[in-house]
Amino acid sequence: APRVGVLALQGDVREHVEALRAVGAEAVLVRRASELESVSALVIPGGESTVMARLARVFGLFVPLQQRIAAGLPVLGTCAGMILLADSILDPAADGEGVPQESLGGLDVAVRRNAFGRQVESFEADLLIAEDPRPVRAVFIRAPRVERAGPGVEVLASVGEHPVAVRQGSLLATAFHPESAGELRFHRALVAQL
Ligand code: GLN
Repeated sequence: APRVGVLALQGDVREHVEALRAVGAEAVLVRRASELESVSALVIPGGESTVMARLARVFGLFVPLQQRIAAGLPVLGTCAGMILLADSILDPAADGEGVPQESLGGLDVAVRRNAFGRQVESFEADLLIAEDPRPVRAVFIRAPRVERAGPGVEVLASVGEHPVAVRQGSLLATAFHPESAGELRFHRALVAQL
C-alpha cells in the first residue's frame, strides 16, 4: 500500500488517517522531517492555519515541506490545509510581534480566511464536482475560499462564484472538510496519483 502522511502538528488528524485507510493507503503521522521523507503523498488537515504554520517552523518541517511540495509531492489540503498551500493569504493573521502568518505555498491561488462571515461559522452544502453526477457533501467550518486563481488552477467546485475545491498539478485543496462527511473521493484522487 502507498505510504501517505498526515501532517500531525494540530487539527483533525484522526479523520484523515481513517479516510486514507478506507481508500487503501498506509497512513503515517508526520511530525518530523524523517517522517516526511518516508511518505509519497501528504494530507494537510483542517485546524488553525496560523498554529500549524508556527508549529511547522518549531518542528523543523516548514522548509522540508516547501521543498517536497516544490518537487511535486502530491498533497491534499483541507480548510486550514488549503490556506497553507495557497501562494497568497489575503488577510493573514499576525502573531504577538505583528509578523504576518506564513503559508507554505505551491498552489497559485489567493485565499481569504473565515471567508463566509462570522454569522456563518459553519454550514453544509451539496456541491457538484466537475463530471461527477453524485454531489459532494461538503462541511464548511470557518472556511476559507479562493478569491483569485492562476491560469493553471482547475476549479472543481464553487459556492456561488467562489471556488472551494481546486486542483493544480499534484496539489488538491478543499475549503471544506470531506473527511467529516465520509466523503472519500478527494483522498482517493490523492492516492490515485501514486
Ligand atoms: N479558520 C481556520 C484557519 O484560518 C480554518 C478552519 C478549519 O480548518 N476548519 O486556519
